[in-house]
Amino acid sequence: MMPGREEQVRELLATQRAQAQRALTAAQHSLAMIAEARDQAGGDDEHDPEGVPLSREWARIDAAASDARERLSAIDAALVRLENGTYGVCRVCGISIPLERLEIRPQADICVPCGSARR
Ligand SMILES: [Zn+2]
Repeated sequence: MMPGREEQVRELLATQRAQAQRALTAAQHSLAMIAEARDQAGGDDEHDPEGVPLSREWARIDAAASDARERLSAIDAALVRLENGTYGVCRVCGISIPLERLEIRPQADICVPCGSARR
């Protein structure tokens, strides 16, 4: 990787990591509040008119939390690849991932053609 480039990537990863961490904390906070609301409602969704929307809200926030957790682990994996010098290389075909892609998704470990082939 070009000198100075790595620093830029580290910064990008650090920013995205902080964002994902914030999203995860916010989601966990919301889940805790929903759990509390459920407890106060007696934990019985079936006879609680608020039960269904509460469950739906839970599912939505829970999905956001898993998404944030996934992003965190992808970013951590990217940091490891930076350390061992395999960062920016597609793990499927081995070509260098274009920098424009890494700027958008610094945690990417797969190039666009390989990524679309898997879909
Ligand atoms: Zn590839």
